[in-house]
Amino acid sequence: PAQYDPDPSKKTLVVLGTGWGAVSLLKKLDTENYNVIVVSPRNYFLFTPLLPSCTTGTIEHRSIMEPIRSFLRHKKAAVKYYEAECTKIDYENKMIYINDESEIKGSTSATEVPFDMLVVGVGAENATFGIPGVREHGCFLKEVPDAQKIRKRIMDCVETATFKDQSPDEVKRLLHMVVVGGGPTGVEFAGELQDFFENDLRKWIPEISNNFHVTLVEALPNVLPMFSKNLIEYTEQTFKEETIDIRTKTMVKRVEEKYIEAEYTDASGKKVLEKIPYGLLVWATGNALKPVVKDLMSQIPAQKDSRRGLAVNEYLVVKGTENIWAVGDCAIANYAPTAQVASQEGAFLARLLNQMAKTDSIETELAELSNVQEKAASKDLRDEAFGKIKDLQKRLRRVKSIGPFEYSHQGSLAYIGSEKAVADISWLTGNLATGGQLTYFFWRSAYLSMCFSTRNRILVIMDWAKTQVFGRDVSRE
Ligand code: FAD
Ligand code: NAD
Repeated sequence: PAQYDPDPSKKTLVVLGTGWGAVSLLKKLDTENYNVIVVSPRNYFLFTPLLPSCTTGTIEHRSIMEPIRSFLRHKKAAVKYYEAECTKIDYENKMIYINDESEIKGSTSATEVPFDMLVVGVGAENATFGIPGVREHGCFLKEVPDAQKIRKRIMDCVETATFKDQSPDEVKRLLHMVVVGGGPTGVEFAGELQDFFENDLRKWIPEISNNFHVTLVEALPNVLPMFSKNLIEYTEQTFKEETIDIRTKTMVKRVEEKYIEAEYTDASGKKVLEKIPYGLLVWATGNALKPVVKDLMSQIPAQKDSRRGLAVNEYLVVKGTENIWAVGDCAIANYAPTAQVASQEGAFLARLLNQMAKTDSIETELAELSNVQEKAASKDLRDEAFGKIKDLQKRLRRVKSIGPFEYSHQGSLAYIGSEKAVADISWLTGNLATGGQLTYFFWRSAYLSMCFSTRNRILVIMDWAKTQVFGRDVSRE
């Protein structure tokens, strides 16, 4: 399309984020209805379900990234994109403040953007529960730079462990890979890491074979709490066979540079604080609120009891506002913070916003027609206008009849290593809980079909084939 050219007769719709929620909205949004502005510090969409595979090089990160520019280029009416972080939403004055947080800054790197309507899809932050040392010493697994950092650190630990004259205790520590959080992120990463060791590291660097070890630490009595009981047992059994240690009912309390302190209850019921040395620490304990979201909540009295995110109504309107909507991990609509929920919310909101624009245009047309009817010189003209009004009113009722958002759960899938996956799939007739190698092929084909573009799909297939034929690359970038 042509350059972005705002039309003063249209409302300005600002979309924050380029993740699952925002992109699924933009995909279905008729951009001719509004002046659309997208603000996000990340100029690409990231297919997060395959991010754990990027930590070991099973998949290269660029294969699961889709530039937002190439995606927006296909919209009917041009959309403006600013690579920036929204630092504040001023609800009262309908203004957002944006900052260019990237390395290269121009003479202007902070400014403001006014909006008529705002969609907040900024996702969530990594939860640390205020545990000291996590940010300084641990690695998160949420974005591409996180996966790159982990990939680098794995190899750094391995190479440092094989350094001349390294003491046996130090070798053991450096090769101890600790994952905190037994949700799907922690489980999938632990599985990928063990695969990397079994398929590649062990082969290229045999001297680490006896000491490389993965431990998964989880505060609750079991991992993957959102999966069926038999799949939890299957995962725990598979991890045992893969020699991944699972330490359940163990709560990490403090993180130091070379060890974590974790609390568990021993056989006599006594609480014990244990020091666990590590070389690599991956922290995957779920989501927390982003500061910009927290700040917006503090401006809206109706949000005062909301803790985990922006409370929204069944039309995803942020409660206490009329012109702000929220989608994905930053919104609390009684669903788990997943890509599946975020993308359905985005698609729903696109439909809603498209309908609202239609409603506006029909209402304007109706007002014009009743004017025509009033001033009509003859009965024929009056009747003609009346007929048109009737038709338009019927259309308006149809357009306005959009129902509230309803989430349709398709199921949960997770990779657990050694070419096995677990799946809880919702069928018309009930639930199917299955795990194993067949499920792994299902996992692969499901995620492949969900990839953002054909380009992504081909790149992922090529990465899988490359890994199969040549093994994973063990060079440290
Ligand atoms: P995100 O996708 O996180 O996007 C947020 C966007 O907002 C980003 O573009 C970000 O750059 C931008 N942003 C951040 N701050 C600002 C700001 N201040 N101003 C403007 N923009 C901002 N879910 C599943 O259903 N299935 C899976 O298999 C699955 N696997 C996962 C694997 C991993 C490793 C992770 C971390 C998550 C996984 N999830 C999965 C969860 C899923 O990724 C999230 O629920 C989903 O990304 C939420 O979508 P979102 O749009 O709310 O946020
Ligand atoms: P999560 O919230 O699902 O799990 C975090 C786990 O960390 C919890 O089980 C919690 O008990 C544990 N924990 C918290 N503090 C701890 C501590 N101090 N010590 C030890 N354990 C502690 O987080 P996640 O795995 O990052 O997932 C986040 C969201 O993304 C979820 O909604 C999840 O469903 C979704 N996701 C889905 C998939 C998939 O479907 N395959 C993959 C990744 C993420």
